Amino acid sequence: MTPSIQNSLGRTMAFFLLMTVLAVVGVNIWTLWSSWLHNEQVREDDARNLSVSLAKQAQDAFLQVDITLADAVRQLSLNGLNYAATPAFTRQLKEQQGKLQQLHGLFIYDAQGKWVATSGHSMPAKGNNADREYFIWHRTHTDTGVHIGRVIRSRSTGDLVIPVSVRLNDKAGHFAGIALATVMVDYFRQFYSYYTLGERDVLALILADTSVLYIRPLPETAINRSLSSSPLFTTVLKTSVSGSATWRSALDGVERVYGYARLEQYPLIVTAGYDRDAIRTEWLSSNAADVVLNLVLLMLITGMGMFVLRQVKANVRNQLELTQVRDELTTINHTLQYLALIDGLTGLANRRQFDAMLEQALQHSCKSGNPVSLIMFDIDFFKLYNDTYGHVGGDACLQKVGTILKGIIHRPGDVVARYGGEEFAIILPFTDKADAEKVARRAVKAVMNAGIPHESARLSQSVITLSAGYSTLISNGQADQAERLKKQADRALYEAKRNGRNRVHGIS
Ligand code: GH3
Ligand code: MG
Ligand code: MG
Repeated sequence: MTPSIQNSLGRTMAFFLLMTVLAVVGVNIWTLWSSWLHNEQVREDDARNLSVSLAKQAQDAFLQVDITLADAVRQLSLNGLNYAATPAFTRQLKEQQGKLQQLHGLFIYDAQGKWVATSGHSMPAKGNNADREYFIWHRTHTDTGVHIGRVIRSRSTGDLVIPVSVRLNDKAGHFAGIALATVMVDYFRQFYSYYTLGERDVLALILADTSVLYIRPLPETAINRSLSSSPLFTTVLKTSVSGSATWRSALDGVERVYGYARLEQYPLIVTAGYDRDAIRTEWLSSNAADVVLNLVLLMLITGMGMFVLRQVKANVRNQLELTQVRDELTTINHTLQYLALIDGLTGLANRRQFDAMLEQALQHSCKSGNPVSLIMFDIDFFKLYNDTYGHVGGDACLQKVGTILKGIIHRPGDVVARYGGEEFAIILPFTDKADAEKVARRAVKAVMNAGIPHESARLSQSVITLSAGYSTLISNGQADQAERLKKQADRALYEAKRNGRNRVHGIS
């Protein structure tokens, strides 16, 4: 296994680990995000439902007051406006007020704003309400419907009240005064306090002209504050009369999830808002255990992954080292095998290989019936060469002769070997006597022609020469065939020596 494979395996595992971690993180974030969205949705639904039920409550409260006022107006139109000053009418007003919890008082004013009747205990002698917003509104508007005004402080009791009024007309249809019902702000404060809400959650009753009539839990100073800059009026109510949305309060700057509903019959709006920070904190605390558990799991996965990765890398490294050692051993083995078959000085086949190859050639001969030839060579007067040029020179000469012999061989099956000392041999498979003789002559000639100086040679030329003896046979498969061939070639070589050296002799 190569380092690149090790690297790619490491990379694959690291990639896999990273993907696993990313998948776990992704799934967790997605789960948390869905849970947050669901939580927000639930709170939005809650806020919308609450605002709708509060709107219903406000609708009922004002409808009751509206009916009471309508009844008083009907009495006056039946009996004439002067009926308002009678004790019977006052009694009637008191009776009506007693029936409605939210009602603070019922009042009749004449066209100049002077008190004519009240459901209260006393009537200021010089009382005049011509300066009140609702009075001016009715005087200047012929509309006979109910008018709801901003919160005022009652001149009779000092309570904070919401004025609900209608215009009174004389028989000719001219402005003749107003009938007023005051609704206690405290009634809403009490009603809204029944709900269990967070510290910064709000419930508000708002006039359509954007002013606050009551808002829980903000102080009284918030009453009559204008919400004209609130998203409720700038955007939200422009698209629907009820629903839910998130915005930052124009009063205290707190971001809330709001439910809102506009009353069908009256110019009033109700909102219920949940503090978004509190929702988030609540959601976080309910999910904290899950988040921590998931983080721990993630750390465990990462830790285990890193551990496995390290183990795998170590294993691969060990395998790599083992493989390297094996490869080195194989190379050494090959070298040893090579050395065992090759002659160290000349690089030719050594005696061992020679014997094996000769045996193989004889087997082929036996099988195929073709002849096999062997040529044995012996350098002439080599002892003298050593004596003249020294052993080192002798070795160099042996190398040169080896190279020349190798050079004259052309067929792939032929084997040139160093037989021993200054003796060489050539095995020629599938070669008859005539061809063997040709090869032998070529070799003897090539060595002589190489002209390796040998000044002490006892021949006509002072160069290195060879004597060669060759022999040929067709193996009969018997075990002595190699021995026979070698002996014959050796004898032929002896003959060549005897005949004067630097020549070839053959025996078959
Ligand atoms: P002849 O012509 O009869 O063969 O004479 P010769 O001197 O070659 O015969 P002999 O067999 O007596 O001598 C062979 C010599 O070859 C003896 C030995 O010192 C030398 N010789 C054998 N092997 C080596 C070798 O590996 N290196 C060297 N330098 N000399 C060797
Ligand atoms: Mg010899
Ligand atoms: Mg010799």
